[in-house]
Amino acid sequence: MPVIVERIAIIGAGLIGASIALAARQAAAARAVALYDADANVRQRARELSLGEVFDDAEAAVADADLVVLAVPVGAMREAAASCARALKASSIVTDVGSVKQAVVEAVGAALPDHVYFVPGHPLAGTEHSGPDAGFASLFHNRWQILTPLKDERPQYALAVDRLEDFWRALGANVERMDAERHDVVLAVTSHLPHLIAFNIVAMAEDLESVTESEVVKYSASGFRDFTRIAASDPIMWRDVFLNNKDAVLEVLGRFSEDLAALQRAIRWGEGDALYALFDRARRMRREVIEAGQDTAAPNFGRERGQ
Ligand code: NAP
Repeated sequence: MPVIVERIAIIGAGLIGASIALAARQAAAARAVALYDADANVRQRARELSLGEVFDDAEAAVADADLVVLAVPVGAMREAAASCARALKASSIVTDVGSVKQAVVEAVGAALPDHVYFVPGHPLAGTEHSGPDAGFASLFHNRWQILTPLKDERPQYALAVDRLEDFWRALGANVERMDAERHDVVLAVTSHLPHLIAFNIVAMAEDLESVTESEVVKYSASGFRDFTRIAASDPIMWRDVFLNNKDAVLEVLGRFSEDLAALQRAIRWGEGDALYALFDRARRMRREVIEAGQDTAAPNFGRERGQ
């Protein structure tokens, strides 16, 4: 696999930043990896984990980098871009990994100088863990990387997008291009709403007075525990997602609430056919997810019996 960029700088050395550093080095997609994180403890850990050359300030980290990746929570993107803007090399590519795109395009775009190529992106890969220790090199293997290129007419811009696409492919990802608005609606359905439901169910179970918390935990294998995994995700990251993808989430949530009310009605009136039809449709969706290679076909996500 050829080297795609000479030097990559990663701002934010958490789960995603650390994984990019490890993956880029493993795939030899970058000759040198530089990192910066606002948190001194994270920088220390990044050094101990040998993620790359770790700098104590953002400008020093991005100096000479051909590719700069902003891997901080969505609400911190503007600040992260501003902290390194003055030192960005002319014609360097700047990208991000934020889970929301329109708000990041606005925030980061406003902070960057004109002499760089900003190509927003979002890897559809992650876990419920955060921090540098959670990073691993194969995180992006066979996962989607969505790029939401800007309407930038400069001839070199298209080449920058191609180069970034090559970079993600080298890390094992499948790359798709989409506009930012579409991204935010699709992700509201596939990721943001499911997380909101999981956070809500887990919090509700904790509040329910009729069932003691110990019983919820004790019998959690029956479906609840899969929600607890999703609901264990980083609260800062998810707070920022909902604050920054407000319109799309509220739109999808409105539709969800209507459908939930219809389900409630079907249960109340004993409409078995309606329930069956909906559950059967949902089951087919699971098959499609597996056929698309997005999850294992093993029962119970491949967990050993009794796990
Ligand atoms: P994370 O593990 O919490 O790491 C983020 C790191 O960025 C933290 O160490 C944080 O430091 C640091 N940071 C915050 N503001 C900064 C700034 N201005 N300059 C430099 N560093 C700063 O988060 P993550 O899971 O890697 O998520 C990073 C981004 O990827 C988010 O935008 C998220 O939406 C996106 N994403 C996440 C997932 C996922 O599953 N986790 C998947 C796809 C995309 P502190 O300790 O001070 O907060």
